[in-house]
Amino acid sequence: MPPRIHHEDARMSEQSRFKLNSLLMIVAIVAIFIAIVLPLINRLREPGGRVPCASNMRQIGQALLLYSMDHGGRYPQQLEELLKDITEELLVCAETGEPSIFVRPGAIAADLTANDVVVYEPLSAHEGEGSMVLFGDGHVKWVRADGLERMLARPASPAATRSAVAE
Ligand SMILES: [Zn+2]
Repeated sequence: MPPRIHHEDARMSEQSRFKLNSLLMIVAIVAIFIAIVLPLINRLREPGGRVPCASNMRQIGQALLLYSMDHGGRYPQQLEELLKDITEELLVCAETGEPSIFVRPGAIAADLTANDVVVYEPLSAHEGEGSMVLFGDGHVKWVRADGLERMLARPASPAATRSAVAE
C-alpha cells in the first residue's frame, strides 16, 4: 500500500509540473501577443485621445461665427476677443495647454472655404505628429504635420486674400 501511494504522489507531481510548464508557456505567449498588439491598438486609438482638442476647436469655430455675426461678418483680430463667450481653456491644446494659432484675423467669415485654415494647434502640442485644425467652413479635422505644412504654405484662396485686402 505505501509504495503505491508514493508512486501516485510522484505521478501527481509530474502531472502538476507539466501543467505548470504549459501554464508558463501560455503566459509567455499571451505576454508576447500583448507586447506586439498593444502598440498597434494605441496607434489606432490615438485620434480618439484628441477628442477634447477637436471639441475645443469646434467651440472656437462657433464663437468665431457668433462674433462675426455681431461684427459685420468679420472675425476678431485675435482669439482673446472671444473670451466673453468661451473660456480660456478652449483656446489651448487640451493635452499640453499650448495656445492655438489664429491665422485669419479680421477675415470676412463668409469668404472662407473648407480649404482655408483658420485656427490650428502648434505642432509642438502633439509632439510634431500633427494638429487639430479649424477650417473656414467650421469643420474640424486632425491634420498630420506634413499635411498642415502644405496647407499653411498654400496661397490663401482668392476670397481669403480679398478679405485681407479689404481690411
Ligand atoms: Zn491638442
